[in-house]
Amino acid sequence: MQNKLNLLRDLQEIDREISSIEMTRQGYREELAAFEADAARVQEMLDQLGDEVALLQQEEAQLQQELLKERDNVKRVEARLPEIQTQKEYVAVLKEIDMAKKSNRDLEEQLQAKQQEIAVLEEDRQEKEAELAKIQENSNVRGAELKELLSESEETLLKRTQTRESVAGELPASLLKKYNTLFKRRGGVALAPARNGACLGCNMQLPPQQYNKLLRVNELQTCPHCNRILYVEQENG
Ligand SMILES: [Zn+2]
Repeated sequence: MQNKLNLLRDLQEIDREISSIEMTRQGYREELAAFEADAARVQEMLDQLGDEVALLQQEEAQLQQELLKERDNVKRVEARLPEIQTQKEYVAVLKEIDMAKKSNRDLEEQLQAKQQEIAVLEEDRQEKEAELAKIQENSNVRGAELKELLSESEETLLKRTQTRESVAGELPASLLKKYNTLFKRRGGVALAPARNGACLGCNMQLPPQQYNKLLRVNELQTCPHCNRILYVEQENG
């Protein structure tokens, strides 16, 4: 019995190490994924800014076109001045020129506002590009480390798993099954030490008769409260 208990304790130690390695690996993978998510988030903002800038530039080009047309219009109307015959016509043409010039100024103001808007977005875009470059730089450096760590831990994991298989192979199938179930259900503690008459898995007192049986190590004892497999720890330990 003592031999089986020793094997089970070895197995539990290996299994807890395996769990810990798996958790660490999960952490590495999450860190890697976080870099990708970060980069994707900034890239999405950049794409959006790019779209906005493109749209504004289109509007800017349109305003430029209108402005050219309006300036032509002023020239065209002004060219008519020398041919004017009557005072009435003269006033009308001057009014037309005034309106065209006012229209010009409006367009110029709109154009300026548009260009300012574009400049602000361009500045924002530059900031985002710098942010993305920084994320990518960090991701490259830390990412390489993480990949290295993942590959190292995979090797360790493989070795531990092989050891586990060989230890598990020495145990009777039914006992192994019982242990596996307990390990899962009892948060990685399938085996608990007993000391001074109590199970240290759940800190409950064991019936005195059972504790005496446990000390003799003749048969498998499980805690009546938490079902864990029990083994004896030194009283003075
Ligand atoms: Zn217990």
